[in-house]
Amino acid sequence: MFYRDALEVYRARPLDAFAWLAHGFGTRGSAAFGNGNLATLRQIHSSRCLVADGKAGCLGEGDALLEQRPGILVGVKTADCFPILLVDERRRAVAAVHAGWRGVAKGIVKAAIEQMARVFSTCPEDVHAAIGPGIGACCYEVGPEVAGRFGIQSCGPVKLDLADQIRTQLLQAGVAAERMYLAGLCTRCHPEEFHSYRRDAERAGRMYSVVGIR
Ligand SMILES: [Zn+2]
Repeated sequence: MFYRDALEVYRARPLDAFAWLAHGFGTRGSAAFGNGNLATLRQIHSSRCLVADGKAGCLGEGDALLEQRPGILVGVKTADCFPILLVDERRRAVAAVHAGWRGVAKGIVKAAIEQMARVFSTCPEDVHAAIGPGIGACCYEVGPEVAGRFGIQSCGPVKLDLADQIRTQLLQAGVAAERMYLAGLCTRCHPEEFHSYRRDAERAGRMYSVVGIR
């Protein structure tokens, strides 16, 4: 469902169906996105959503950036956390979401869908959700306290499937399962392709994932 193009950017094939849409999930090898039309956030692992509204540059603190105006790419940067690109097919509105365990526990995914509904009159059933590369359950051991935030009771460390938690939150927000596209690529397992904070700590770079209306 995902493929890597000649620019070393991953794309979700179902989103290619929309000629009015631009999207991509960056890798270590991909060049920077945007020529002065990229809008980003200072990411703080929150459930805070902002609307770009035609502006580029860093627009403040938050973890989901929404847009409906053409010509602006909204982007999030990740290295193990999950980038999620939301596309409202009917209203032609988009959002880029940064989702680590803290943000997911705080409900960032649901908050982004709700904010799209408020600002763009988005119906959740019109939303396509592409979940990009992030840390897989294979590599993501968390303690009982973090697991407990997701309703998993344990006395010791457990493997957390964060992508699955994101899917659950999308379902709860009203997004259809058949409109969720999961890259299924673990950032820690593929050092040649992806930066990984868990693997490389402070040396890890960050990858941008972007979406926008052409
Ligand atoms: Zn892995």
